[in-house]
Amino acid sequence: MIKLSDINFGYPTGEFRLVIDELTVRAGEKVAVIGPSGSGKTTLLNLAAGILTPFKGSVSVGGVEISSRRDKSRRNFRIANIGFIFQDFGLLDYLNIQDNILHPYRITYALKLTGDVRNRAKILAEQMGIADKLDRHPTDLSHGERQRVAICRALLPGPKLILADEATGNLDPKNKVRILELLFRSVEKHDATLLAVTHDQELLPYFNRVVDFQVFCKENLNDG
Ligand code: ADP
Ligand code: MG
Repeated sequence: MIKLSDINFGYPTGEFRLVIDELTVRAGEKVAVIGPSGSGKTTLLNLAAGILTPFKGSVSVGGVEISSRRDKSRRNFRIANIGFIFQDFGLLDYLNIQDNILHPYRITYALKLTGDVRNRAKILAEQMGIADKLDRHPTDLSHGERQRVAICRALLPGPKLILADEATGNLDPKNKVRILELLFRSVEKHDATLLAVTHDQELLPYFNRVVDFQVFCKENLNDG
């Protein structure tokens, strides 16, 4: 579950403000976030992940208030509990695909890299259709393949919160639905919460609910 309340956020530079009275997404719920470019969708995900912190208000994930924690604590919490599929993937070019997928396990004590984890990584890579790419580096992969690596890395720890920033944006229609189904399966298996930014109208009926930024944060768009 995620709950944002009474949020006020702005970047150190620029006019942009994000004001959210309340946004709650329950465990097991799959929510699509839509809205025009520049309306703050990525900012919302970064606040939900604790990558950004609001000036005012609170962000809690699974009952843990992350907005009041220090940087290092938020980072550890994020790596262990939140699967973030970044718009630009955030893969490390100097690591091969296998090591990219396992990376979260190497940077926090909160996740333990066991044989079982390695097995699950292999199964996920197979389901995503990238099992034959594990020895390669991100630079040798297509856009759509890199995206699927980013999804594998995000889902491997079985996160309670999945944040997806246009995670199906670069995929062909067949892969798109297949990968959405894998995201949904992970949500069901772990009773997780999914917040997915998408521009894809066709995918909206698959979600439980749609948050439209143009409606949801009217003030943000008008006070610019
Ligand atoms: P969206 O994902 O909906 O396209 P963003 O959340 O990325 O929108 O951005 C919302 C607004 O905040 C935009 O006006 C953008 O230019 C601005 N913005 C994003 N990142 C920064 C930053 N690091 N510093 C200053 N302004 C930023
Ligand atoms: Mg964005």
